[in-house]
This record gives sequence, structure tokens and C-alpha cells, in this order.
Amino acid sequence: MNIHEYQAKALLRDYGAPVSDGRVVTRAEEAKTAAGELDGPLWVVKAQIHAGGRGKGSFKEADAGDKGGVRLAKSVEEAATEAKRMLGRTLVTHQTGPVGKQVNRIYIEDGSDIARELYLALLVDRGSSRISFVCSTEGGMDIEEVAANTPDKILSFTVDPATGYMPFHGRRIAFALGLEGAAIKQCVKLMGTLYRAFVEKDMEMLEINPLIVTESGDLKVLDAKISFDGNAVYRNSDVAALRDESEEDPKELAASKYDLNYIALDGEIGCMVNGAGLAMATMDIIKLYGAEPANFLDVGGGATKDKVTEAFKIITSDDNVKGILVNIFGGIMRCDVIAEGVVAAVKEVGLQVPLVVRLEGTNVEKGKEIINSSGLDVIAADNLKDGAEKIVKAVKG
Ligand code: GDP
Ligand code: MG
Repeated sequence: MNIHEYQAKALLRDYGAPVSDGRVVTRAEEAKTAAGELDGPLWVVKAQIHAGGRGKGSFKEADAGDKGGVRLAKSVEEAATEAKRMLGRTLVTHQTGPVGKQVNRIYIEDGSDIARELYLALLVDRGSSRISFVCSTEGGMDIEEVAANTPDKILSFTVDPATGYMPFHGRRIAFALGLEGAAIKQCVKLMGTLYRAFVEKDMEMLEINPLIVTESGDLKVLDAKISFDGNAVYRNSDVAALRDESEEDPKELAASKYDLNYIALDGEIGCMVNGAGLAMATMDIIKLYGAEPANFLDVGGGATKDKVTEAFKIITSDDNVKGILVNIFGGIMRCDVIAEGVVAAVKEVGLQVPLVVRLEGTNVEKGKEIINSSGLDVIAADNLKDGAEKIVKAVKG
């Protein structure tokens, strides 16, 4: 689960991290008052969307100006004007994809004087099953680019959970970042603060890009991106309250309400499968035959007809879907339940694209009969290979 920059900063501020004062607004009329509450003489006006690269992004609408989603202002009036120009517009960054994201909130912050921009992140390193620190002197840039072109400029190490964070970890980062004077001590403290927040709030990733050294030599968190482990959100009600559903993929949101394991992807073949392993195998074989899956969907073992109907509706609501492959190996999940769900959904939403159904396992005959007697235009398949071949052929000709 992702949150906005202003929420991440409020959370880190509560933990004691150095963050500038700021105000969030959702309406243009509030911008002037909000900016007036800050000291100046520099204001930063920042579009709040669940995507990075805002500074280098651009707006789709011409009247939003061409300065990207992070703007500096030298007066309260200017800050209010910039906020007004961005609100309600669509910001496109390298992380949003070409569709972009609508800006519904603006964060106005006290501007900082920047001497150096650094990179810092904490993340869960799956290889070592530990929390890892990643830092670089090349802050404010795309870290993937730094990793590709100058990997020697990135320091990364893991923390032993038996000891947790120790001051030497912080000193290692401070020296790698070339910090001096008071900033070294600040770094040792800040890294401990961030580590504690990371563990206590079940974060998956905490990225500060940039972490800055101000003109006066102090460390400050200038940008903050946090994603939480979705499976742990239930035990942090304060984190759950930060969820902004308007930022989420509407299809994934609908799926989560029905407890479906659904992830939207970019391809053209919608998949409905039972079991995560079979779902992965189905995606693989679609790729093998030269097409791309439009989603990952595991309807699970105990899916009901309603759940299957909803899953089918979610798949068909995706405009990219040019064909659907239902691949069910019925064990706990019964083929007749799937068949009933598919038929009910098609009757409700119609079928605009080819549908290949492969059923095998518990109640397979009953399932096939339901499909065959429904009058639906379904292409039957005997096994996974046959199903994948048929749907790719139906879509690609
Ligand atoms: P991102 O583009 O979405 O990653 O947004 P950031 O919050 O990282 O801001 C992008 C860039 O704007 C930063 O790398 C800074 O160069 C600049 N910026 C952000 N806040 C300030 C500020 O308070 N003062 C100054 N001078 N520049 C800032
Ligand atoms: Mg940034």
C-alpha cells in the first residue's frame, strides 16, 4: 500500500525526522491561506500523486504550465497561483505511464536551500530476508539510472535483525555520503529513526530522494515515498487510515473488496485461473505463445459464483483485454461453480471478445454442460497448452 508524500512526511516528522513545515490543500481557494501560514521566503508547491518523478513530469493540459509537478515560488501569491494551475490536471511522469494521474491534492512546503542532494532508501531485501539500507551521493536523480551507469556510487548493506540498527550503520552511511560536522551525528540519529519507523509500521520500502544537506550544513528529508506491506496493514490502524483509494487501480480496488487476488498488467489476454501457481504458469504460457497477459488473477479455492462473476466483470472492464482465457484445474474449486459464474457474468456484461475455457478436475462434466447449454460462444480447450494456443490465435489471428 502506497501513501502520499505529505502523509509520509507527517509520519516521519512524528518519529522525529527533520522535515520542513507544510500544508496540504485539495481546493485552489485554500492555497493562499495555507502558503501564508508558512515562513517563506521560498515556497515549494508539490503535486501529490502516488508516483515519483514529478519534478521532471509534465502536464497533459496546456493551461497547467510546463514546469512539472514540483514548483518553486517566491511569494504567497505565486505559491497559490502554482497550486491552482496544477489542481485537477493530469500529471504524466515516467512512473505514471502515458495515462498520467489526476492531481487532487497539493502540498505547499517551506522551501529549503540545498547544498547537496543525496539518495537514501530502506527496503526489505528478499535475498537475505533482512532490511537493507541503500544510499548514494547521487540524489535527486533516477536511482535506476545511477545503478545502471555508475553502480560504484551506490552503497547497500543489510542489518542483522538480531542486533537491529546500530550507530555504526549510520556512521557507515555518513562516511559513504561524505557528510561533515554536525550532519554526521544527525545522520546516525536519523538512520535509527527511519529504521524504527520502518519496522514498527511494517514498511516494504522507504525512499528519501533527495535527502539533502542544507546550506547551513543540516540534514533534511526533502522527498519521501513509503509503501507498506499490504498484508500487515490490518495491525496498524493509523496506516490503514492513510489509504487513498482514488490513487489505486479501480479494478484492483474492486477485486480487493471481493477478496480476489488480482493484479492488473499491460497485456491483452485476460486470465481467470484458480491457484497462484497455475495462474503464474498460465501467464508464462501466454507469453510463450507470443502474447501478453492483461492480469494475474487467482480466484482461490473457495470462490463462490458471485465472486467468479465479479472477477469476470473486472477482467472485461479492462479495455486492453482482447481475449479471455479461463483455466481451471478443479480441486477444491469445482468446475461447475466456475462455469455458473462465467455464464452469469457474460449474461450480465455481454461478451465482446473471444473466450477460451479450459476446465479439468472436480465436476468437470457438469461444468462443461453448463457452458455448452448456455448458448455462449465459447472455444473449448483440453489442456493448458491447447488453451493458450487457442486464445493467442483468436486474439492475434
Ligand atoms: P520528485 O520529482 O517526484 O522526486 O519530487 P521531489 O520532491 O524529489 O522534488 C524534485 C526536485 O525539486 C528535487 O530534487 C529538488 O531539486 C527540487 N526541490 C524540491 N524541494 C525543494 C526545496 O525546498 N528547495 C529547492 N531549492 N528545491 C527543491
Ligand atoms: Mg524525489
